[in-house]
This record gives sequence, C-alpha cells and structure tokens, in this order.
Amino acid sequence: MAKRWTTLGRDLFLYRDSCNVYLLRDGERAIAVDFGTGAWLDDLADLGVATVDHVVLTHAHRDQLCGLYRGRRGDFAVHAPAGERDLLTSGTLADFWRHYQRNGCPTSYAAPRLPLADVAFDLAADSETLVGPARFCAIATPGHTAGALSYIVEWRDRQLAFCGDAVHADGTVHQPYHLEWDHWTPGGALAAWHGLERLGYCGFDLLLPAHGPTVSKRARQAVHRTAKNLLAFIRAKGSVCAGAKNRWLDSEPLACGARQILPDLYQFGSNSYLLVSRKAGGLVVDPQRPDIDQLAPLLRQIGLDRIAATTATHYHCDHADALDEVRRQYRAAVWLHPWVAEPLADRDRYDLPWLTPESIAPDRLLPAEGVFRFGEYRFRIRPFPGQTWWHCAFDTEIAGRRVLFSGDNFQPPTRWNGSGGFCAFNGSRFEQGFARSAQAALDIDPDIVCNGHRIAYLFSAAHYRRILRWSERAEKAVRALCPESDIDYDCRALRFEPFVNRARPGARLQLKLVSRNRSATTRALEAAIAAPEDWRSDMPRRRATIPAHSERALALALRIPRNAAPGRHLVAADCTLDGRFLAEACVALIDIT
Ligand SMILES: [Zn+2]
Ligand SMILES: [Zn+2]
Repeated sequence: MAKRWTTLGRDLFLYRDSCNVYLLRDGERAIAVDFGTGAWLDDLADLGVATVDHVVLTHAHRDQLCGLYRGRRGDFAVHAPAGERDLLTSGTLADFWRHYQRNGCPTSYAAPRLPLADVAFDLAADSETLVGPARFCAIATPGHTAGALSYIVEWRDRQLAFCGDAVHADGTVHQPYHLEWDHWTPGGALAAWHGLERLGYCGFDLLLPAHGPTVSKRARQAVHRTAKNLLAFIRAKGSVCAGAKNRWLDSEPLACGARQILPDLYQFGSNSYLLVSRKAGGLVVDPQRPDIDQLAPLLRQIGLDRIAATTATHYHCDHADALDEVRRQYRAAVWLHPWVAEPLADRDRYDLPWLTPESIAPDRLLPAEGVFRFGEYRFRIRPFPGQTWWHCAFDTEIAGRRVLFSGDNFQPPTRWNGSGGFCAFNGSRFEQGFARSAQAALDIDPDIVCNGHRIAYLFSAAHYRRILRWSERAEKAVRALCPESDIDYDCRALRFEPFVNRARPGARLQLKLVSRNRSATTRALEAAIAAPEDWRSDMPRRRATIPAHSERALALALRIPRNAAPGRHLVAADCTLDGRFLAEACVALIDIT
C-alpha cells in the first residue's frame, strides 16, 4: 500500500492532502469526507477501491475542497452543509469577492476561489442524512465558518466523529483566527465553544479532524480541552481592563455642535480633534468624512482661518478617510507616522479591515519614535499597536495638561470592552502590541487621554496596569489555542503583495508572495501559483528559506490571456512550508480592466 494512506480501522483510511481526507470503504466503492486537492483519487487502487460514490464536506474552506474546482470533479455526488450554500454557489460567491474589503472582517477568511456545480446541500444540523450505506448525524460546530458541521457516523461497529476544523488535537484549533467573525466581540468563538460543548456530550471512539493528528485515546477529552481553551480566549476578548472604572472628562458644548475639551483643543463630529496653535493655525487629528462638514462651522465660531496640518492615529477609514479632503479644502499638509502611512500610502498592498477607499500619500513622514513640533506645541510620538498594528500615539502639553492622543486604543471599560477589541485580521499582538502601548502610556503618565469616538477621559495608571496583566493572559490564551505556535494566529503569515492588482488582458503580471516566519527556527517554503484555468504561469515553482523571525518574498509571474474577461479574478498560492502542504494558502485579487 502506498504510504500516503493510513489505515485507521477496518475500511477506514486517511490521506494527508491539503486537509485530512477520510475514506470509508465499502467493497470496491467508497465515501470520502472532505476533498482537499483530490490528489488522493490517483491512489484509490492501493485500497482496492474502484469508485467513489460520495464526497461529504465539513465546511466551505478552499483547503477542504479546492480540487473540486480545479479539474478533479468526478462522477461522485458532493454533499455540503446547507449553511455553506452562499460560499459555494456562483452568484453569491462572486458577490462575496466583488464586495471583499468593503468593511471590517470578511464572513470567511478562506472562501473558495471558484464555485462548485451540482452540490447537494442536504446536510443540516440536528438531522441525519443517509449517504450511501452511512448515516451522517450532523451537529452544528460553527467557527471556521458559520455553517460548519461535524458528523457522527457509525462505521464497522465504531462511532466516528468527523469534526472538520472545530478541533485540532491537543485542545487547539487550526488557524484560530477564523473564529474572529468581527474585529472585537467573541461572537465566533462563543459559537464555536457552544458547538464543542454539544459535540463533547456525544459518545464516539475516534475524533477525525480536518488537520493534524487523529485522536483515538480519550477522544472526547480532546474536545473538552479545546472548549476550555476557547473559554480563556473568549474571556480575553471580554475586557482588556476588567475592574477599571470610567473616568470621563467633561467638555463644553459649543453652538456649532463641537465640544471644547481644553482651551485650544476641540472635538468635532464623532472622531476628530482640532488643536489650535497661535503661531501655526490648526492641526486636525483623525478626520473622517462624516465629520468634515462640522469643521468649517467650528473654525468660524473660534475665528480660525487656517489648517496647517492633519494627521491620523491609525489607518482605519473612520480615522483617516478625510485626510485628503482636509489637504484639498484647507491646503493642509498630511503628516503621518510611518506605521500609519504604510497601509494608507498603498491601500491595495495589504488585505486589512476598514481600509480607506483610496490611497493617501503623506506630505511628511513623522519620526517613528521621537519628537515633532507644531507651532508652540512639542509632540512626542511612538508606535502604539493594539486594536490594529498600524497605529501610533502622540502626546503634548495643552493648557498645562499632558494630553495623549491614542485613537482606538484603551477606552473606558464600558466602551468596547475597554479597547476597540483585538483580532488577527487587524494585526493585533499582545506582548509586542497592547502591552508595549500600555507601558508607553504608563511612561508618558498623561493627565488626559483623547481618543476617537467622542472619548476623552482622565488617565489612571491602575487602569493601564490592568491592561498589562490582561495582555499576558490574552497572549497565553491565544498561544494555547494554536497547534504549533502563534504563527497559526497570523492570518498574513503567507500573503500576496499587493493584495489587489489591476491588469489588462494579455499582460504579464508579476506577483510577490511574502512569507513571515514568526518562529525561532528557519523554515523552507516552496510555492506555485494556482490561477484560473487558461492563465499560464511561466515561473512554475519557487523555493525560499526563511530565517527565524524574518520575512522573505518570492517572485511569481503570470500571463493573463488576451481574452480574459473584465472583472475580478483570483489567483492563489499553493505552498509547502517545512514539508506541510497548504493548498491555496493565500489569494490575490486581480481586477482585469
Ligand atoms: Zn477550515
Ligand atoms: Zn480603529
């Protein structure tokens, strides 16, 4: 027997494709659970199997099924969870990709590139479906996707639990960032936890996850351990400063609708500040489009006629999308911290939530860490990662008070769990992120914190020391959920740069695949492009070695056919990282114009 099949029991086999593919053998016929690339179809003869009659999917991630749209579809029936219809059907999947990046977190981080035809959506939670000779009893185990199912199947006198990506062995979850359905609540993780509670109530002999090892000893324990680790993750999302009290700063409402925080410091709209310098004019912090109409009435009321500069604490559109407008309307200069400028200068570079609709080039890059002056004000500035990685904070003295402008980080406890939340998609980190920023705030020891969303409050060191302790717990909770290291929590460890590309039919497209190695050991990467059917890659396979704690880029090229249809297309990277095959590990959007 070829070594690629592992025998798990009588008439039960495992093939390590881009996901675990399980085969239930019935004489010369078979049922497969999940599909991967379909490479396993070439090795069926090793098992004496002549025909696959059915393929049952656990969830609609491309690593589970990409072979089905890459030419490996056979005569077999494909069964999928009823709740995954939108991610597998042509119209709705095209809409998903067309509107991708319009908002915060996507409804799937690993949606298929292409739809599937002829799928029976005949598997639903709390129902049993006869698939050939096997009864698939479905339990909702949302998480990796909202519609994901686990199946309990009795096969040759044993109860099997096919749990998809709901559980990875050892109390972990494969790529736990899939559970972050939005950028701040534990909604997805809570749903996942409840699914595991229910799966854990069932009796079974073998736990068969979609990635990693199978579990035959104390199989239910593996589910309970993952549920327990999920609870710690959910608690970490619950609050960054549990026990802290609100310490709001009162402001003075003005007739124009703005509020005066201090002499010369005003808050207008919901996110923006105006600082007035007697020498230099105005500095606008975090301008967003819905607020910008309120700037002119404020300027009139206080008798100011000049905006000299505008800046943003982070790249999110609700803090930065009017930078260009302030520049245009008031001939103000756009000043940006280098970390904030990175996603703004080329908004197509990264796949990030809450991007501005257009790129914004700064007129001046502020120091990454240091001092800048605005009129009589001396600002200190530094990176301030937290809610998002691409964040900074700056402080200065205004009317004798030390004021810290810190965007969306560290809010009063009643607002958004004390922060704007954390999620991998926003690049949140703990020790290197929230803790670094909370320590910076403690070192600054400001009197007042001026944040976005109409939040101004009195600083308390005790509040920020709580955040430091929380960071440690959150880091532990995330690491405990990751099968390997926190590399599994990095949704951009493998990525195309730029993420969004524009090209004409007939063009040769040069793509850059970037791999970030967060681990302490060197990694070997091999990559190839998976493109639409008639697109040719003239640079087939590339290899790279990625040293510990660093990034490497691989060049991959692609010829776009002259008859390529206008509109959005997707290419993916098939990667092998340290011998582990990851089909379609990341995608790039190609807009043909
Ligand atoms: Zn998955
Ligand atoms: Zn934000």
